[in-house]
This record gives sequence, C-alpha cells and structure tokens, in this order.
Amino acid sequence: METEKSKVEEKLPDKTKHMSEWYDRVLLEAGIIDIRYGVKGFIVYMPYGMMIMKNIIKLYEEELEATGHKPVLFPVVIPEENLKKEAEHITGFESEVFWITHAGKNKLEERLALRPTSETAMYPIYSLWLTSYKDLPFKAYQTVAVYRYETKATRPLLRGREFLWIEAHDVFRTKEEAIRQTLEDKEIFYKVTYEKLGIPFIHVKREEFDKFPGAEDTYAFDTLLPDGKVLQIGTTHYLGQKFSRVFDVKFHDIDGSYKYGEQTCYGIGLSRILASILLIHGDSYGLILPFEIAPIQIVIIPIYKKDYDNEKINRYAREIEEILGEKYRVKLDLSEKTPGEKFYEYDLLGVPYRIEIGKKEVENNVVTIFRRDIRERKTVQLSQLTQYIEITKKEIVEVLRRRAEERLKNSYKGIENLDDLKKHSEEGYSLFEADFCDSEECADELKSITGGFEVRGIFLDKKVEEGSKCIMCGGPAKSRVLIAKAY
Ligand SMILES: [Zn+2]
Repeated sequence: METEKSKVEEKLPDKTKHMSEWYDRVLLEAGIIDIRYGVKGFIVYMPYGMMIMKNIIKLYEEELEATGHKPVLFPVVIPEENLKKEAEHITGFESEVFWITHAGKNKLEERLALRPTSETAMYPIYSLWLTSYKDLPFKAYQTVAVYRYETKATRPLLRGREFLWIEAHDVFRTKEEAIRQTLEDKEIFYKVTYEKLGIPFIHVKREEFDKFPGAEDTYAFDTLLPDGKVLQIGTTHYLGQKFSRVFDVKFHDIDGSYKYGEQTCYGIGLSRILASILLIHGDSYGLILPFEIAPIQIVIIPIYKKDYDNEKINRYAREIEEILGEKYRVKLDLSEKTPGEKFYEYDLLGVPYRIEIGKKEVENNVVTIFRRDIRERKTVQLSQLTQYIEITKKEIVEVLRRRAEERLKNSYKGIENLDDLKKHSEEGYSLFEADFCDSEECADELKSITGGFEVRGIFLDKKVEEGSKCIMCGGPAKSRVLIAKAY
C-alpha cells in the first residue's frame, strides 16, 4: 500500500531537462515498449503501444488509399543479386544489411538480405506487372518492419535495427507526374502528421551528398524534439529512371515506343512518429494523446461516498458508458483502485477525457469532465455531453499542435558565422538557418568543429541573396540551409 501511494504522488522528471529519463520511464510505465527482448536494437511493442501504433497506421493508410495507393505485401527477404543491382543503392546500404546465410543445415547458395528498404524487392516484380501506359500511374504501399544494422547507439523507437514504417513505391509515365507525386507525399504527410497528430515538421531538400542511395532527389521531414535535436520522421524521393533502367520497369507508351517508368518512393517513419508524439506532447504527468489515436478516448471513474447508495453511481456511470460507447472508445473503470490511483494511471496513459461520477453528478444529472491537455475540469449536463465532446475533441490536437509549433518557432535563429551558432545555441536556440555552398567538405567540417551540428538540407522556399557567402568556406553560397543536431 505504501509503495502504491508514493507512486501516485511521484511525478515524472521535467521533459526538457531530462528527456531521456522521462522517455524511458514513460515507455515502460505507460506500457508502450519493452526493451528487454535481449537483442540489441530490437524492441517489443506492448499492448497499449501497439494500439496507439495501429491507430496511427490507419490514418496514413487512409490518406494513401484516398490518393490512389493500393496495399501490397512483399517478402522480407531480398536475393543478393537484386539488392546489388543498383550500384549507388547497395553502396549506401551495404554496411547496414542483415544477411541470411543458412537455412536448416544448408548453407544458402545465394545469400538473402532482410529488407533494409524494398525498392530491390518490388521493382523486379513491377517490371512483370507493368507493360503498358494504360497500367500507369501505378501506386502501391506496404506497412512493414525493415532491418538495418545500425552501428550508432540504438534508442527505443528513435533508432533501432528493426523499425516499422510505411513505404510507398509509385511508377509514372512522365517526370512531371513523378515530381508532382513528391508534392502529394508532402501533402499526405501534412494532413496526418501536422493536422491529425499535431506534430509540426520542417520540409527540406537533402544535400546531394546526403540523398537516399540511388535517388535523384530526396526531400525530408524533420521534427524537433524537446532536447533540441531534430528527428527525421519521413522522406520522399524522386528516383527518376535510375531503378527502372536497372530493373527493367518499362512500358509501351502511347506512341508505340518503349519507355522506362519515372519512379518515386516515400517512407513514413512510424516508430519515430510514435516517439515524436510521446516526446513532443507529453508532460510531467505522462502522455497526452490526440483524441483520434487514443486507445481509450474517454475514461469514466466512479467516486463513491460513504452513507450513499453507490449502486446509483454505478448505474449512472454505465448509462454514460453506453451513450458514449456508441461513438467513442470508452472505458468504465470499476476496479478496486482508489480514484487517486486511477487519476494517476489515466493521466500517465494520456487519455484525453476523464469523466468523474459521484453523488453530486447523479443527483443533478450532470458529469464532471476533465481534459488531459489543458488539465481543466468542467461540469456538463448529461444531455449536452456528446455535443461537448464533439466540439472540444478537435481542440485537443489544436492545443498540442500550437504548443509544439511555438517551441519550434522559438528555437529558430538565422546565423552568419560560427560565433553566432555558438552564442545562440548557448542561449537555448537549436535550429539555425545559414547560407551554404552545398559542399560535403564544408558540412563535414561544420559537424566536426561544432561537436555535431549538421547541415540538414535546403529550404526550398528561401533563396540566397546575391553575393552571399558560405558560412564555412566563405565561397559563393548556393542555398539557405537548416543546421541542427540530429538523431
Ligand atoms: Zn562552403
């Protein structure tokens, strides 16, 4: 009893100062992830974490299907010959591939790779499926785990050797259509990540030396975590004909000629998006989940009173459960735990609404309803309850998004030299904007002298002024770039 009581009173550490400690405790205490599987970089999704994940996946899949993507499922193994066909691609992934070399007692004649990404699994089959311009555009996606032998320190959901993602692989007749797809990918990302999950992100074009191996152009979505580091949560790539020429993805065009398909691929980093939701929205009481993805959207907690017919409270609570259960994911908690213990638990789980039912509520036909995001209690007439939730449920994600966006905005600073970078990062800024020459040497040098600041990519909507100079070498600047530390 003593330990349970102290648990109720113990708050989580301040997320901005002790993000790692906050994160580890929340992952385990809220039942998101178990890291004790025993294989480095491989984690177990616990029931509550997986329920959140499934709700996130649904949002992206709905958007992909609304834009003409069809689901597919390709094997997890890729024959070595296929993986190695596109030269830049294999050079980029070589050191990260897990290989299957044996099956039963036999050594395999050809090694099989566990997919680090699926271009080389899918496109040989695409070349069989797509024969005519009438088959195009062809848009498909799969929601799967991929495998990369990360050598950097792994962190649950942030950097793992197995992680969940959605990958979409599209083929078009023309370059224009393919380029348009990269913009549609951004739009899909905005609609779900920003609008529905409340996670703001920065859209940049990665530098030439930082592209996806085998792509013509890579566009990335980075978000800002509370510790000031950015996290790549999605990318979309214009592949051009680089893979279609290698894998023979060609089609009979209108004029009778054979042409190679114009391709794009798109990765939505589900594990990292889940991590961002936990880290960006949470507070010292635990998670705060947007209404749409919360496994429990409303919890009902009876508060009994001595010398009162508490069965009346239970009856009233069940009535409310039934009304709300028609539309929402509702839980009535009739367990033996004290109301205080229950408050603590559902705060930790990030349940958007808590309804408290006691004598006063029963006798006045009202409910006391608590909103997790703003921590406010309100008394609402039972007859108005559904309407109240319908109106306010949208406000929750707006509140979360506004908070996140404000932090992101307040972290930005334009800089002209490395002294500025040092000074402003000591003041607490973490995202910097500067003129840059786009060379890899300058990016490497920046990273080594500043202890980890990276050129994250080019702002597409910003141009350098005439005569401006690279922040590193002083040579002519070509782009305005984002500079930040990154996961
Ligand atoms: Zn330079």
